[in-house]
Amino acid sequence: MTIDLIEWIEVNREQFIELSDSIWGHAEIGLMEEKSSALLIKILKDSGFKIEQGIAKMPTAFIASYGNGKPVIAILGEYDALPGLSQTSDPVKKPLKEGDPGHGCGHNLLGVAGIAACLALREAIDTGDIQGTIRYYGCPAEENVDAKGGMVKEGGFSDVDISLTWHPSTTNSVWATNSQAIYSIVFNFKGKTAHAAGDPYHGRSALDAVELMNVGCNYLREHLIPDASIHYIITKGGEAPNIVPEEAAVWYFVRAPRLDQLRDIYPRVVKVAEGAALMTETKVLIDFQGGSANLMANNILEDLLYQKMIELGPLKFDQADQDYANEIIKSFPDGYFDRNLSTLPQDMQIQMEQFRGINLCEINLPTVSRGVTLPGSTDVGDVSWVTPLAQFTTACASIGTPGHSWQLVAQAGMSIGHKGMLHAAKILTLSILELFTNPELLAKAKDEFKKRIAKTPYTSPLPEDWHPPIEYIKSLYPRSS
Ligand SMILES: [Zn+2]
Repeated sequence: MTIDLIEWIEVNREQFIELSDSIWGHAEIGLMEEKSSALLIKILKDSGFKIEQGIAKMPTAFIASYGNGKPVIAILGEYDALPGLSQTSDPVKKPLKEGDPGHGCGHNLLGVAGIAACLALREAIDTGDIQGTIRYYGCPAEENVDAKGGMVKEGGFSDVDISLTWHPSTTNSVWATNSQAIYSIVFNFKGKTAHAAGDPYHGRSALDAVELMNVGCNYLREHLIPDASIHYIITKGGEAPNIVPEEAAVWYFVRAPRLDQLRDIYPRVVKVAEGAALMTETKVLIDFQGGSANLMANNILEDLLYQKMIELGPLKFDQADQDYANEIIKSFPDGYFDRNLSTLPQDMQIQMEQFRGINLCEINLPTVSRGVTLPGSTDVGDVSWVTPLAQFTTACASIGTPGHSWQLVAQAGMSIGHKGMLHAAKILTLSILELFTNPELLAKAKDEFKKRIAKTPYTSPLPEDWHPPIEYIKSLYPRSS
């Protein structure tokens, strides 16, 4: 190599921190990330990347490419925030603006680390050290819509050889666990309004239908496979108690370890909805918002990521970070460490024991829990079925920081998050350099992928006529539009 890309990232660190902080400050909800995606597009465009915008009818989805020909190596970036989590970067609960969104999953860091790696690798393409194409996938709405599935469905990854990504966390490790497949569906019920005291017998309550559907699904749970889960919120329940609600809606997430299991469960949930409509003489209209497949592992790529983490060495925090972490940990409830531990697979619990009484993870943890399904879902899953993919985490927050919390928002906007982000950018860069220069390794990863998908080929969880629910999201979170 004629250029040291790790050094290059260090020299340019301030511009990436600044970019991450502005996305953190905008904190836009999924599918409404106009300012955040514009910032990312600008830096890529200014660096000579070819940009394609509006992928799968999502204005904030984009693909940026640099270089020519094969291999095509992709980095996935996210930049959406979560509702109601507005928070300053102080270690005490203090909203920037009460009720506004906040980066409670650290996606400001997630999106920018990929940018830093892409720009570093661009340098190596320019010097002729590597040949091929580096690509940044601007993936919106990971939190609310699972938008990557839409990008996959549109063929956005059809010529990609390998995809890598990462996620902010409290530890530095390869993400080798599986995620659950998920469907996100809104059930809209339509009834007939009437005066709730005067002539309720002329009315047919859409809210009754929602409630009966929920009761039905709560009975259904017992007869699902134990690892499936159902959760819902009522998004529309009527206007006033003295009006029989003409319209009501309930938003469901249904999950199972595998997509094929979910395909069996979903029609049963639909039957419950139809039953509720039948009982209440209302109509049900089903709006399929989105869905994701479970993750498909690639051990060759996982091992590569770990090797590069070790090569790069530990992530270093300074005394100010330690002091900050000391403060933020005071806001965690008593017994938080054991509570967190109890949610983890056994080998991860054993691994995490070493952090009892420690604020920040600086070491690289060996890969554990390979293939164990954890309860959450990610739309990275869909990409993992169409390209060989692996991901890792770096410590961007203190040990024990809950996901989707104000404490995470705070740390994603200060030096602990920044350091984790730059560390992630370096791991991505080193791993992709290796893939560009070691065709044998790249072929091995592709071979493993082919063998895995041969057993159970992928079909998109999204229906044929799927369109991104932009208007629906805007109606739920008008504050951010
Ligand atoms: Zn996330």
